[in-house]
Amino acid sequence: MQKDVTLVEREAFVAVAVSFALFSSSTISEERNYSNNPYRMSIPSHSSLSVTELGVPAAQNLEAFNTLGLACQAQRVVTLTQVAQLPQISDLAAVAGGAWVLGGGSNVILPAHLAALVVHVQLKGVSLAEARPDAWVVDVAGGENWQEWVSRAVDCGWDGLENLALIPGTVGAAPVQNIGAYGVEIASRIESVQAWNVPQAKMMTLDATACGFRYRDSLFKRAAPGTWIITSVRFVLPRPWTPVIDYPDLLKQLALEKVPVAQLTARHIFDAVCAVRLAKLPDPAVLGNAGSFFKNPIIGGAQHALLREQFDGLVSYPQPDGNFKLAAGWLIEQCGWKGRQVGPVGVHARQALVLVNYGGASAVQLLALASEVVQSVQRRFGVALEIEPVVVPAA
Ligand SMILES: Cc1cc2nc3c(=O)[nH]c(=O)nc-3n(C[C@H](O)[C@H](O)[C@H](O)COP(=O)(O)OP(=O)(O)OC[C@H]3O[C@@H](n4cnc5c(N)ncnc54)[C@H](O)[C@@H]3O)c2cc1C
Repeated sequence: MQKDVTLVEREAFVAVAVSFALFSSSTISEERNYSNNPYRMSIPSHSSLSVTELGVPAAQNLEAFNTLGLACQAQRVVTLTQVAQLPQISDLAAVAGGAWVLGGGSNVILPAHLAALVVHVQLKGVSLAEARPDAWVVDVAGGENWQEWVSRAVDCGWDGLENLALIPGTVGAAPVQNIGAYGVEIASRIESVQAWNVPQAKMMTLDATACGFRYRDSLFKRAAPGTWIITSVRFVLPRPWTPVIDYPDLLKQLALEKVPVAQLTARHIFDAVCAVRLAKLPDPAVLGNAGSFFKNPIIGGAQHALLREQFDGLVSYPQPDGNFKLAAGWLIEQCGWKGRQVGPVGVHARQALVLVNYGGASAVQLLALASEVVQSVQRRFGVALEIEPVVVPAA
């Protein structure tokens, strides 16, 4: 039975790879000899590592490893520190009936019990691959801390990521939901992603088109859980640097700092973004949360016109394709949810887009609240909200 499932997954992946090759100009290339590829950084080749170095997967409670603070008893957890461990991880995942990848745990809703092999990505390394006249090209390992990497990039003059400051989590998870904030999406700064395909036991390089980036979404997020382990990301940071400062909150913060636009540096923007975020969002170390719990819904022009007639103050942003993005937080607030608590879970008092765990909550309780919020927004506005974090299946 197990074998059949694996075979189906493999066939699905072959189909995906073939359709990319045939119908798009994107590139997915296999790297059988990945120990020699330029993404390797300081990671040793797997031939030098004996199988025992991965260790026996251990059972572990993941409560301290997810920012919502949900208790989750995982049956098998391994820590990935070297690319050389990946073939063995594929073998272990096949035995366990599947894998699931954990970074910083800031965008996941974990079940009470998790049977899959949990792979905790701790790969480290940053290296400048190329200093092109038009861009800095930098390889960063998947287990690097996102905020530390962004700060380091700004220190090095590799500008272009500063609007994404203070997003929790790891570099490897950033492409998964195409993280975005204050006018910048990571898709626009990625040249390619190096990822291990677990069922196929194969390292692959996917260029930005092949990653299938969409709003808070990508090929990696759409794939079956545990299919891909992103080992490194190749960033392309444009030269000369152009500041992105259209976002109203950011503009206000920069105005407070009284720096003339002509003298703005990436560090100014980094600091301003951090200040805005600290004022707006609850700190997960104090109150369990996963940041925005819902995506901002995108609706067509006709529906937008109707809603504007009906609801004064509708917060919306025109999109280049003629659609409109609505502020999900505003819709939720209008339905009276802001600050409401239901048992151990609630809607944050300052930011209605954020659901919080006041302590001891389960995924079931959190998702029940989310479902009530979704239903009331649907009833009042006729708009469907979609959950942003990844809901991790128990099996
Ligand atoms: C306070 C707060 C603010 C936030 N603000 C923003 C924001 O402004 N913009 C935004 O886009 N997001 C935001 N987020 C969400 C979150 O921080 C990002 O999605 C982040 O990239 C998740 O990183 P992580 O390492 O914690 O991933 P995890 O939560 O560990 O995992 C998220 C998903 O990625 C997968 N994954 C993780 N690592 C890898 C890997 N190496 N290879 C393959 N798959 C992997 C996991 O299996 C899971 O499906 C916020 C979260 C919080 C708590």
